[in-house]
Amino acid sequence: MHKLNDYVSIVSENEISELRLIAEKLKGRRILNINSTAVGGGVAEILNNMIPLLKDMEIDAAWEVIKGGEQFYAVTKKFHNALHGKQETFTDEEYQLYLDTVASNAPQLSLDSDIVFVHDPQPAALIRERSKHNNRWVWRCHIDLSQRDQNLWNFLRPIVEKYDASVFSAPAFAQGLPNRQILISPSIDPLSDKNKELPDETIQKILEQFQIDPRRPIVTQVSRFDYLKDPIGVIAAYRLVKPYVDCQLVLAGGAADDDPEGAKVLAEVREKAASDPDIHILCLHPSSHIEINALQRASTVILQKSLKEGFGLTVSEGLWKGKPVIAGAVGGIPLQITHKYSGILTRSIEGTAYWLKQLLQSPAFCKKLGDNGREHVRNNFLLTRHLKDYLLLFLSLSRDGENVIYL
Ligand code: UDP
Repeated sequence: MHKLNDYVSIVSENEISELRLIAEKLKGRRILNINSTAVGGGVAEILNNMIPLLKDMEIDAAWEVIKGGEQFYAVTKKFHNALHGKQETFTDEEYQLYLDTVASNAPQLSLDSDIVFVHDPQPAALIRERSKHNNRWVWRCHIDLSQRDQNLWNFLRPIVEKYDASVFSAPAFAQGLPNRQILISPSIDPLSDKNKELPDETIQKILEQFQIDPRRPIVTQVSRFDYLKDPIGVIAAYRLVKPYVDCQLVLAGGAADDDPEGAKVLAEVREKAASDPDIHILCLHPSSHIEINALQRASTVILQKSLKEGFGLTVSEGLWKGKPVIAGAVGGIPLQITHKYSGILTRSIEGTAYWLKQLLQSPAFCKKLGDNGREHVRNNFLLTRHLKDYLLLFLSLSRDGENVIYL
């Protein structure tokens, strides 16, 4: 478990002292995070990294997960897709199932915490419990809402506007809500197993374990098996490049408890890959952080060919490892990549294939993109910056008697 002081090796001592100063004012405050999965996906990744550091600063941070049945996750996955702009229709029964499932979780959750910090739409309706408590509620939306389905938004908006504040990852995602809207981008933890430096032997051993040839170029996408991550488009792009460069493709993914579509997408991906021995489809256990780290470090080029994306932590993970990343120009990805400076942004299979071929043939350009990308992540997307943003938000919402402290 890391301590705040460990980060002095990566960011300045000033940044760490500043965090301690702010945290001092929040000592002992109970901050409860709530989401819908303990493993899989970016939200779980961030909470796993953040909670121990908040505790190290003597803030009483906790993380609890709501539970639902198969039907609940089917509805909330439809919410997820519709908020990203997919055409979906919802019945009154589906809305009621959502509200009932969320309400049935309430008695098990510590909703009397000083701040209840609710992540994404799945647990959002917990706000209906707020009148029982005298505390502050924040909705943290990790989704790109810029093209959200209007009917679903008509249902969700009256729910989320009851929160004291909403947090979005990028300016384009914010909505005309009457409550405070705050922009805070996500982050990666440079000291976690997912991102720490690894000895060369570990990387080589992991390549061997997955029967990946270390002597030929490796192109990797790490993602849940989700249509919005476009693994099938990745295979199509690889196929366009393969006649020119003898590369290997790694599609590494795992399941998330709140994503019921994974098995279907994985079956389709397997079918498309057919029997190509150079396409490695890896279904990893949720604890495979070192394996993912090693695969990213062993890669010549990293892809994140998303069609829709909230932020896309995997992009920062790749850039932090000094790798050239080719990614879809969607959602929060352009915050992380400036085209041709700190990575490559694409909008099609052909565009992805064009740039993949270029990069596989230009090691010097790869290095330049990777170096610039790593600095951009150091300055913007590390956990320490994220912690500071959250602490300031908590402080601005704190109650001291009846006086709200605004910075
Ligand atoms: N991830 C993982 N195992 C997998 C697939 C993804 O640990 O099999 C991690 C990945 O390294 C990243 C996070 O899950 O840290 C995914 O976050 P991102 O924002 O890229 O996408 P999301 O899944 O939240 O849409």
